[in-house]
Amino acid sequence: MADTILEIKHLKKSYGQNEVLKDISLSVQKGEVISIIGSSGSGKSTLLRSINLLEMPTEGAILYHGQDVLQKGYDLATYREKLGMVFQSFNLFENLNVLDNAIVPQTTVLKRSKEEAAKIAKANLEKVGMGEQYWKAKPNQLSGGQKQRVAIARALSVNPEAILFDEPTSALDPEMVGEVLRTMQNLAKSGLTMLIVTHEMEFARDVSDRVIFMDQGVIAEQGSPRQLFESPKEARTKEFLQRFLK
Ligand code: ADP
Ligand code: MG
Repeated sequence: MADTILEIKHLKKSYGQNEVLKDISLSVQKGEVISIIGSSGSGKSTLLRSINLLEMPTEGAILYHGQDVLQKGYDLATYREKLGMVFQSFNLFENLNVLDNAIVPQTTVLKRSKEEAAKIAKANLEKVGMGEQYWKAKPNQLSGGQKQRVAIARALSVNPEAILFDEPTSALDPEMVGEVLRTMQNLAKSGLTMLIVTHEMEFARDVSDRVIFMDQGVIAEQGSPRQLFESPKEARTKEFLQRFLK
């Protein structure tokens, strides 16, 4: 299909004897917003990290626009650039100010001129509500919610085809969670393709096109938010949701 960005086929990942991803198949369409839920240790982070090859899968295939990225000679650097990543722990460059955080990946990775990069960085910072008054600040002068919004603007600035979010609000004080979720909701509306590991069930239910429930290294169940939250089929999905949605 023309609009399929990623097709993951029978992906496995082991650390020594520990098979963390058991047989994951999943495709991602352009513009799709997918939430990945599941207990701690079920393999959610490993899945995201394997998709953008921060971890090398042990077996399986990852097709990006139909091309197997694991085949010899494939341009992995370009592939990785196309999948932005937003982490729980922000991972900003602490020694750079807000604006430079969003400029530097563009000038280094994409070889954009400083001028062009600054224009794009500013537009993306504005988009996440981090206007001019913040541009000279260093990350340690910002709240967690502000840092995460800068991390999102930085990810956007290199024109990714999709952004993978790994528990983007889990490290935040409760009062900061909303501003980050609202930013992500706006991105979802703008048509960005997003894979989001989250414990925010309301967000998963209201914003995603599809919800994937992972358990012990497999996709135990997936469906529309409505299907998954209102009429889960699997006992383990029901049990998980009962713990979260009471
Ligand atoms: P989740 O994100 O769902 O909490 P993870 O993907 O982080 O789960 O971890 C799944 C399993 O993989 C856990 O048992 C964890 O200990 C193991 N694991 C994750 N990363 C590594 C690693 N780098 N080396 C060894 N084991 C790992
Ligand atoms: Mg995790």
